[in-house]
Amino acid sequence: MWGYSCVTCCRCRPIALPMVAALIYSALVMSVIVGVRYLLASGGFALATRIRQPGLYRGLGAQIRREIGWSLAAALIYGAPAGIVAWGWKEQGWTRIYTDVAAFPLWYLPLSVLLYLAAHDTWFYWTHRAMHRPTLFRTAHAVHHASRPPTAWAAMSFHPWEALTGAVVIPALVFVIPIHVGALACVLTIMTVMGVSNHMGWEMFPRWMVRGAIGGWLITASHHQRHHDLYACNYGLYFRVWDRLCGTDRGLGDFAKGRL
Ligand SMILES: [Zn+2]
Ligand SMILES: [Zn+2]
Repeated sequence: MWGYSCVTCCRCRPIALPMVAALIYSALVMSVIVGVRYLLASGGFALATRIRQPGLYRGLGAQIRREIGWSLAAALIYGAPAGIVAWGWKEQGWTRIYTDVAAFPLWYLPLSVLLYLAAHDTWFYWTHRAMHRPTLFRTAHAVHHASRPPTAWAAMSFHPWEALTGAVVIPALVFVIPIHVGALACVLTIMTVMGVSNHMGWEMFPRWMVRGAIGGWLITASHHQRHHDLYACNYGLYFRVWDRLCGTDRGLGDFAKGRL
């Protein structure tokens, strides 16, 4: 062995090859999970839209089919690093994901969720803003903005290059910031729900919240809709902090009467 790669070592090859197969298998399984999660979440909110805002997606059939196609392709990309890291966590003890709730003080549970959301939001703000530079926009981000107006199916409608920038965030963070497996599930749930609901074309949160003090700092559909309307503003994902600090916050969009 002496530090050489197992791929060329005949003694280790029987071990290394099953490991590669297990990694590929884990990546594929995770891609399927991400794809099914997308279909269930977007399908659920599309159904809610049909009930609450009948006719809102009328005439958007072709666009929705494109959104689903790009999103399922993105699911493959999202699943790969997540599946590899999940395998490493389970089989090799990688990552700082913990299962013993007593391993850290209880107050750390909500704090860890907040840290993940803040880190993800920061990464998203700056990569998203960069993707509005003309070359990157044409190469990658135009796919997401082809949804005019976006629907609940557009949540993961990204070009593969853009999907890659989103896919690495949580798998990288679990190596840096300790998090309980339940808190991680909470982060992923918030990520999914906000990703879908921010694109569905109407506001599900009450007006007093969206237009009040809380809404001044949190991003919901009204904020992200304005990004899709005006492009060069409102780049954030969960919080309005970076937009406000950097002067890119252009306030809330106005849905048609009755939707907010
Ligand atoms: Zn969007
Ligand atoms: Zn954008």
